[in-house]
Amino acid sequence: MKRSPLPKTVTPLADELLSGWLTRLAVTNHCEVDELLAHIGVDTRQVAMLDFEVEVAATTAEKISIAARVASETVQSLTFGTMTQTEALMTAQVAFQSCPDCSRRGIALKQWRKLWAFDCQICGTRLLSILIKPDRSRISEKLVRRARSGAGMLESAVTSNCANKLRRAMRAATYAKALKSVRADTAFALQSPRPDVRLFCLAAIAAAQSRPLVKAAMFSTGLDGYARVALLRAFEKEPRLLAAVDRIVLRNRERLRRAGV
Ligand SMILES: [Zn+2]
Repeated sequence: MKRSPLPKTVTPLADELLSGWLTRLAVTNHCEVDELLAHIGVDTRQVAMLDFEVEVAATTAEKISIAARVASETVQSLTFGTMTQTEALMTAQVAFQSCPDCSRRGIALKQWRKLWAFDCQICGTRLLSILIKPDRSRISEKLVRRARSGAGMLESAVTSNCANKLRRAMRAATYAKALKSVRADTAFALQSPRPDVRLFCLAAIAAAQSRPLVKAAMFSTGLDGYARVALLRAFEKEPRLLAAVDRIVLRNRERLRRAGV
């Protein structure tokens, strides 16, 4: 069956996500995205699933490209494509944050799915959880500043493919997540809809850059059982570091005891 192009088309933006662009295309053509896909003969349960198809099936890309009058390669380039294990770990499967300004215009970027993404790369506005309305008054500017710095460090660890930096960052985030009593994986904590959890984990990455042991130990002064297990888990592959943190914790406790606190 020969299908004709859609009445109107929109040009994909740099770094735009396929599902987001298809949604904008649907809006421009006054229909729902499901209707649009059905109309052009693409069979998928959810438009978001197309984002992760390593290579959108050639026939699917072809159908979309004819309908939207863009090159088939352009359609392919809007998916996440082949990712390394680290990239996959650092990319959220579902949207967890968005730019309050750009999303109003129907835009969705690949960048927003990165666990380290902090500010919108189009307009610079801070990305916000799409699930929980942030209570801005409760979040200190200092925490936001530190979290932004930690996010930058995580990004640099991932993009420079530096295993040591990444390990250090994830260890700090693992520990921070445990202090917040979050039992999910660290990667999930970094995409937590709860801004206090996400920001705290990112801030810990920045804190761990300078004097990681002292920072970890400071956090640990009032360790309860669960945090203690978390500490063990965060440092399990580094018994030497764990022992050092333990020594600092004990010393701090002793000092506090002597000071009569
Ligand atoms: Zn934006």
